Amino acid sequence: MSTRLLLATRNAGKLAELRRLLESAVPGVEVVGLRDVGDYPEAPETGVTFEDNALLKAREAVRYTGLAAVADDSGLAVDALNGMPGVLSARWSGRHGDDDANTALLLGQLADVPDERRGAAFVCAAALVTPEGIERVLERRWRGTVIRGKRGANGFGYDPIFVPEGLSLTSAELSPAEKDARSHRGQAFEALVPVIAQVLPHA
Ligand code: IMP
Repeated sequence: MSTRLLLATRNAGKLAELRRLLESAVPGVEVVGLRDVGDYPEAPETGVTFEDNALLKAREAVRYTGLAAVADDSGLAVDALNGMPGVLSARWSGRHGDDDANTALLLGQLADVPDERRGAAFVCAAALVTPEGIERVLERRWRGTVIRGKRGANGFGYDPIFVPEGLSLTSAELSPAEKDARSHRGQAFEALVPVIAQVLPHA
């Protein structure tokens, strides 16, 4: 018998990634997305931390579907801005999901910050919640530097202005597979897989 695990996302890329990681580690788990379950009202992300938001989203998914659920929350934490935009990354310019406006605003805010103080990290928290009330959450970071102009056409959000540590390309110049292998989200999902393997069969 297979156990259904809901990944609380509509993003096909995230689903494919978690499926690929889980397939070998947890036989008999079928990963489904929000498009595969009935619509439910999604609450705004009001948490103070990425971990709070990932847990809120996973709990909400369990409450509405009765399935064990995984949720993630992510953003860019800039050292010179004391960790902002952080949990406000998607709506930094005031319009949710306006990547061009968010990136332009951040570049303007950092205009006078010298190269040696332009460190930042993409952060991803991933949470697992089961209908029995078991909760696990973890966070992974991908360090890099915010450059002064956009480069690259892949990815989304702040990718065109982020050069990961140890590379000279922006994360928007990496192929999707190269990015997944290194990214905050790839690392968080990978770290959550053994947790899922341990928790789900006993839930
Ligand atoms: P979420 O969908 O609530 O996790 O919000 C994520 C927001 O953080 C996005 O809208 C982007 O602005 C930013 N972000 C998170 N991960 C990435 C990434 O891998 N590349 C670029 N921007 C990202």
